[in-house]
Amino acid sequence: MLGPPGAGKGTQARRLAARYGCPSVSTGDVLRDAVKRQSDLGKKAQKLMEAGVLVPDNIVDEIVRSRLADQDSQRGIILDGYPRTISQAEFFEKLAVQEGITPLAVGIIVDDDVIVKRLSARWNCARCGKIYNAGSDAECRRDRCLDCGAPLTQREDDRPDVVRERLLIYHATTRPLIEFYQYRGQYVEVDGKGDADRVFDAIVGIVNGKEQERTAS
Ligand code: AMP
Repeated sequence: MLGPPGAGKGTQARRLAARYGCPSVSTGDVLRDAVKRQSDLGKKAQKLMEAGVLVPDNIVDEIVRSRLADQDSQRGIILDGYPRTISQAEFFEKLAVQEGITPLAVGIIVDDDVIVKRLSARWNCARCGKIYNAGSDAECRRDRCLDCGAPLTQREDDRPDVVRERLLIYHATTRPLIEFYQYRGQYVEVDGKGDADRVFDAIVGIVNGKEQERTAS
């Protein structure tokens, strides 16, 4: 899943994983968990994440390499927030060849001003990770997750000053991946403005169409 912070990558990745029966892996979630546990990895990543800047490529490359080797990834894997640099995309391309995977990058496009508004209203379940939007999720009561009952929290890096930094990095470093995957015929795009159900239906329609093209060729 490719797109700026707050485009809805996490929400859509979870739904796509349920639809296609494969795991979704968010490098951001893996890193946040490591920070919470204060593991060596977490200690290395913490300051960078709090400032909204990227952690070194080799750290996230290794997270993805090891997750892809797991048994439940054999049918495929939905990656949320990886790759984020050309170097990560090149690493993943080699890995995909080794594993016999053909990647498909799904870009979710949303304007910056919508993102700043969305992220300041974003709440996350501290246990299961479900994402709520206080502005549009009528069912979000801002305190407890409706699925598992755990408290909802806001991410440190969703503060407006950190969001602006993350958007700058997205435009300078991650957006060029659109061309990287377009050049390889491995890019599709959806408009991320609408509600999550509409975006999901659009992605499924495009992914299924792409899959049919592949099996026909
Ligand atoms: P996310 O949850 O995807 O918004 O990621 C939160 C933070 O984790 C980012 O701002 C980065 O500091 C770090 N991070 C997550 N994925 C990557 C990645 N692929 N490359 C570098 N840093 C990452």
